[in-house]
Amino acid sequence: MLAKNGGKYILFALAALLLCLFALHAAQQREETAKPHVLESFRLGTVTRVALYGENAAAEKALAEADKFLREFERIFSVNIASSDISRLNAKAGEWVAVSGECFRLVERARELAELTEGAFNPAIGGVVRLWRTGTPDQRIPERGEIEKALQSCDYRKIESRASEDGRYLRIPRGMELDLGAIAKGRAADMLKEKLREAGVKSAIIDLGGNLDVIGLSPEGRGWRLGLQRPWSPRGEYFGIVEAEDISVVTSGPYERCFEKDGKIYHHIIDPASGFPAESGLSSVTVIDGDSALADALCTALFVMGRDRAAKFLEKNGGVAAVLLSASGKTAFVTPAARKIFRLTDENIALEEIGGGSR
Ligand code: FAD
Ligand code: MG
Repeated sequence: MLAKNGGKYILFALAALLLCLFALHAAQQREETAKPHVLESFRLGTVTRVALYGENAAAEKALAEADKFLREFERIFSVNIASSDISRLNAKAGEWVAVSGECFRLVERARELAELTEGAFNPAIGGVVRLWRTGTPDQRIPERGEIEKALQSCDYRKIESRASEDGRYLRIPRGMELDLGAIAKGRAADMLKEKLREAGVKSAIIDLGGNLDVIGLSPEGRGWRLGLQRPWSPRGEYFGIVEAEDISVVTSGPYERCFEKDGKIYHHIIDPASGFPAESGLSSVTVIDGDSALADALCTALFVMGRDRAAKFLEKNGGVAAVLLSASGKTAFVTPAARKIFRLTDENIALEEIGGGSR
């Protein structure tokens, strides 16, 4: 009898042990899945972070590809690299310049978005941006005369393009300087997402400094929760959360690149109508969209427009998911599309709907 019961106990003990081992293995697997493969580097003038999740044996290879891609992207678009397409275009203003397909397409897109936003986003603003040098050790307040002169060479409609069998060419007028800083990070994120998806990545987060992009679902198997930075506060302090999958969340604000002179803040988002930092009554604009280049250009444009003009634009172009925070930080203006995925977490901020007109 005892021997028979002893056998039973051993069987129970074995079953319990197997169960424990199984649970341990599952937990290890979960941990493995939740632990990202990360690439952190200083690219595009900012700290960039690419984190891949999931059991992806090819993750390290995909990260190496991502690094290579970001370096190549800089070689085409950086104004700080003399041989880049953008630098050559600016140096040879007035002449036709052969450029890469990537540059050709992005400049065409930038011109279209400049039309759409009636010049609030203006890729030809480079001459004015260079006068201010905001974010560099030589940042300064230019003379009014200098600004007025530079503004005369900012007409984006004068950017010409020509594509033929022998290549793609762009020409900007003499005196003009292109600056794709307000759209290029978005395009980089779009291209990088495409590359990672092709490499089989199912879950990832890409942070290109102000441009957050996610692939698929979060490691917990739900939408990603992405915090919107509270302006003028320490990094990581949020006023609201976006929860979504396969999305790009781009924020523009005056607080990242700015300087103070005689008690006044001068920042890097220029109002192309005045040549001065936009005084739009806003402290940040976030646009949420699957197309990161569009989101990037739009959030800069909406910031320049300010609440009233932005509301009219958003009514006309229904479906854009945008969150605009007032300069006082007391009101968040949220479009109907954004309300579906955005939640205010700061109860001291009032929520007001804008852009809910025709679709
Ligand atoms: P956004 O609001 O998206 O864009 C603002 C920027 O766009 C301004 O800084 C200005 O350049 C331009 N701009 C201002 N007003 C307007 C307007 N009305 N319409 C259109 N554009 C406007 N930074 C460095 O300091 N060093 C580097 O070496 C460097 N290399 C870079 C290389 C590449 C390929 C790219 C894409 C960016 C690089 N940057 C570099 C960063 C760049 O200078 C900007 O800081 C950044 O792109 C601005 O992004 P944002 O999200 O801060 O602001
Ligand atoms: Mg932008």
